[in-house]
Amino acid sequence: MRTFSLRDLDSDFIQEIESSDFIGRFRGCYTCGTCTGGCPVHRVNKDYDPLRIMRMLILGLREELLKGEMIWLCSDCYTCQENCPMDVKITDIINHLKNLATHEDNTPLGVSTQEKLLMDQGKIYIIDEFDNKKRAKVGLPSLPEMAEEAKKLLKQRQQ
Ligand code: SF4
Ligand code: SF4
Repeated sequence: MRTFSLRDLDSDFIQEIESSDFIGRFRGCYTCGTCTGGCPVHRVNKDYDPLRIMRMLILGLREELLKGEMIWLCSDCYTCQENCPMDVKITDIINHLKNLATHEDNTPLGVSTQEKLLMDQGKIYIIDEFDNKKRAKVGLPSLPEMAEEAKKLLKQRQQ
């Protein structure tokens, strides 16, 4: 297990996160472990641990959090946040960390590839003739290959 020195701790980072109105309260975490106990990702990958993310945050381990892979394993299911007895906005915090990492170009290849697909196609998966035949078999209408409206909206957001 990696050890940390005082130089790794970034108090500005703690203040930066705390000053975000919607996620401010995370110091109330008393390490009960409810978040980790109910996390579906932790169930299949013991290296992933939302409580550990909260402790790293409280210690101000900015580099470790934003440059590491851990935050990207969260599936965004909100189970932890809904169950936290201290109302820590765990999932919102992890999403915020993902946004910060993205601004610093620390996005994993899989995520940046999906982002590019969304920008190019408006969706991650292209709906082809084969998919539409399967849809027709169960009475669903055909879908266009690209999602032009979504593409337009994403481009507008980028400007
Ligand atoms: S459930 Fe909430 S209080 Fe409990 S360890 Fe997780 S973040 Fe901390
Ligand atoms: S939101 Fe993320 S951390 Fe929370 S329970 Fe779901 S996968 Fe785990």
